[in-house]
Amino acid sequence: MNLKVIESSLSKIFLTILRDVKTNYSKFREYLERISEILISEALVNVNLKEFEIETPLSETVGFEPGEEVVFIPILRAGLSMVPPALKVYPYGRLGFIGMYRNEETLEPVNYYVKFPLIKNARYLILDPMLATGGTASQSVKTLIEAGIKEENITFISVVSAPEGVEKLKEFEGLTVVTASVDEKLNQDGYIVPGLGDAGDRFCGTENVEVVESHGI
Ligand code: URA
Repeated sequence: MNLKVIESSLSKIFLTILRDVKTNYSKFREYLERISEILISEALVNVNLKEFEIETPLSETVGFEPGEEVVFIPILRAGLSMVPPALKVYPYGRLGFIGMYRNEETLEPVNYYVKFPLIKNARYLILDPMLATGGTASQSVKTLIEAGIKEENITFISVVSAPEGVEKLKEFEGLTVVTASVDEKLNQDGYIVPGLGDAGDRFCGTENVEVVESHGI
């Protein structure tokens, strides 16, 4: 597995804001978008191009347009936070979805919705802000592989990763993982430490609010 840890000055600043417990959900969303733009740009830095002739006001020159299909697959629900930045960075992208949640007792991923386009030779970018145990990540990669997509065409993008999750994804030799940090550890509840807390709750604005009932799965 090819691991790329993006530790640019900007990504460090944005990650600090995300980690800060004082950052409210609205600011959290903003900076999750910003850091995702950096990570997604990096993942697509070598996207294939097609050349074509254009004319500038002064002369003819070679221009470039996208030369391969890219499919973004957010893992519901926190991965949805990375869709607007993904489409901003690469507006030519297609979209698919994998719906999984983590059973809070067994910490095992439970699959409840899978829909994505199978496009020949396309590049697939799985989006999930947190790579924790690697259970969800591994299952999402397996789901794509079982559909016939080659490991080499899959990139997993997370903002914060746990060493345990990174280790788990090493089972996929051809996979690329792009992240802004590999943190210290997972705690006994499956949260990344120091991490940034529950990314889904912080993005959805469902923490620090009195919720009568969390309806649904
Ligand atoms: N999911 C989160 O949102 N945060 C963690 O720390 C681990 C998994």
